[in-house]
This record gives sequence, C-alpha cells and structure tokens, in this order.
Amino acid sequence: MSSDAPRTVGIRCPRCGAPLEITPESILVVCKYCGYPYWTSQAYVYPIYIVPSYSEHASRFFESWLKTDKDMRKIASRVVLKQVQTTYVPAYLADSYTSTDYYGKLRVRLEKRVTKKDSEGNTYTEIRRKSVTVTVDGHFEKEYQINIVARRSVDKTIVDPILSHFREDYNNRYVTPQPLARADWSKIKGDVLSAEIPPKDAESYARDETCDMLISDVIDGMRRKAKKIAERRNPGWRATSADVLEKKIPCNIEKFQMSPLMLVPYIVALYDYGGKIYKAVFSGWDGMRVWGEEPILPTQRLLYYTAGLTSTGLLAGLGSAILISAIKSGSDPLIGIGLLLVGLLVNGKFASLSIKGARIEKIDDKKKEKESASERLIEWLVKW
Ligand SMILES: [Zn+2]
Repeated sequence: MSSDAPRTVGIRCPRCGAPLEITPESILVVCKYCGYPYWTSQAYVYPIYIVPSYSEHASRFFESWLKTDKDMRKIASRVVLKQVQTTYVPAYLADSYTSTDYYGKLRVRLEKRVTKKDSEGNTYTEIRRKSVTVTVDGHFEKEYQINIVARRSVDKTIVDPILSHFREDYNNRYVTPQPLARADWSKIKGDVLSAEIPPKDAESYARDETCDMLISDVIDGMRRKAKKIAERRNPGWRATSADVLEKKIPCNIEKFQMSPLMLVPYIVALYDYGGKIYKAVFSGWDGMRVWGEEPILPTQRLLYYTAGLTSTGLLAGLGSAILISAIKSGSDPLIGIGLLLVGLLVNGKFASLSIKGARIEKIDDKKKEKESASERLIEWLVKW
C-alpha cells in the first residue's frame, strides 16, 4: 500500500479542483474529495461500482471486535485505538463455466508386500514393485470463481482475504455495490487505490487462470482414476504414484461473466497494547476482522512455550532412541541425528514464537528461556 506511493503529476480534479494522485500505471483515479472518477484515457471509460464504507464504521467495527472477540475482551481496557484508515481496492469478480473431454496416458507405479521364509524358517517381508501404463478419458466440467485485483502490486496478505470475504457476501447478496455516480461522498471515507488493469486485460487473465485451474484439476482426477484402474487390474497391488506420459485437455469456456470494476473497502486499525503497536484489518462493509496480529496473552505464550518443549522432547527422544538402537545394531545412525536436529529446530521455532508476540520481555529473559530449554534437553540426553 505505502510501497507504491502515488506521484502527483499536476492533474487536478475536473469537478472540485483538488489535486489528483496519478501513477504512470493508473487507468482510473477517484478524487478523494468529491469522488469524481478520472479516467486517464478516453479508451477507458467503464461503469464503476462501489461498496460504501461510512465514516462512523471504522472505529465502530474496531470497538465491537474488542468487545466480542474472546481474547481481545480480556485486554480491552488496556487497548488504545491509535489510527483507522479506510482504503478501497479496485477489483473484478469473474465466473467461468468450463468443460473438457480429456484423454491421458499415465504410468502407474504399483507395489506389493510379500511375506517369505528364509532357509532357517524366519519370516521376512519383501516389497515387489512394477509399473503399468493406463489410459484414461472422460468428461469434466466445473465453475471457477476468480477474484482479480485491478492493480499490479498489492499487499496480498490483506487484499486476498478481503476479496474472498467480499466474494462470499457478494454471491450471497449480503452486499450490494452501487454505481459510483450515486455514492454520497460526504459520508464516504477513505482512499481509493487507482485502478491499473482495464477490463479486457482482467478478462484475458481470468480466462487463462480458469484454464490453468481446469487442467490442474483434470490432471489430479486422471491420476486418481489411473491408480484405481491399475489396482483393479492388478489385485493385491497398491498404486503409489501416477505420472502423466501424454495428455489432451482442451479447455472450453462455456460461459464467462465478469463484474464491472468494483471498489471494495477495508479498514486498517492500529492500536496500542503494552506500549507496542499492532495492526488489525476489517472489511469496510460488515466489520469482519479478516487479518491481524493480536498481542499474545501470557497464557497463550506459556502454551506455545510448553508446546516447544514437548515437541523437542518427543522428536529428540525418538531421534535418540533410533540413534541408540542404530549404534547397537550397527546401521545408519544419521536418521537419529536428523530427528534430533528436527527436534531442536521445532523447539527454536516455538520458543521464538513465544517471545515474538510479547515483545515486552527483556532480552535477558529471552536468552534465559532459550538456554534453560537447551540445557534441560542436553541434561536429558546425557542421561540416555
Ligand atoms: Zn474532486
């Protein structure tokens, strides 16, 4: 968001005279003051819709989250809202009905366990392997929904969850975008990100994406089908993998629909808790929290830390057990060492998580925690 800071090139709003922030990629800029849609070229003049987010929404959504979220409720009295910012992201929603009559040739690997007896009468298992070639064909159809952001660079961690929440509400008609011309700009709040991708580019992107998704779904289906066929033809054998040798998957888009350009609002709230600033993101129309970093509460921190110790115990324990039995039997001790390392890494990850959220702790405490954890682990290993 802030990474692509707009550059003003001296163009003013034709309706109210306010300066417009236009980037070289902009095709549409909406005036922040009066809502006038400014198209950078006459080649781009399309209907635009907006989902309004009103001024009073922003802090109200935050307050209600604070009151209703089970974790936030506990610390609500010590949380101070510092800033709310509403932003509109331009997007298209596409629906694609696709079908294909596919054909594929696959190599399926099969295996079978056979119990045998050696010369001294001890039983042992032997794994037999073989591969067979299977052809599959059939008809497949599916509807794909694709959300397209009309910008080249966006913060995907925020925009993706906003658009999937918007898609759901839009499909269910919980939210009805209105023509931009009818929007009441005296009540609407926020910055409108300029649109950079015109509808025809969005459409070809959505069509390509649809066919990629169709092909990938069909390949998954072909693999499952080929494995089933191979197992049916070879009773007692289990299919382990299927590789595509040849394929024909023509992508037919039977029906394609795309919404007009829509401006979808989200609210970024910055709040203070324990002297640190945290961020939470809400949808601008119904206030659902779609993304956020919550301060981690002491009890949760303890849980993370305990989880760290436990997983080290389990994995490292398993690792040492294997290590010891490997040394005894004279086989490869590397697996044991590997598991031991995994155990240490997992512990490192959980330990850093337990510290990260609660940046209130002093560095000394952090070190102590880590040291004591690894000391305990070493002590415990020495006992073995
Ligand atoms: Zn204006």
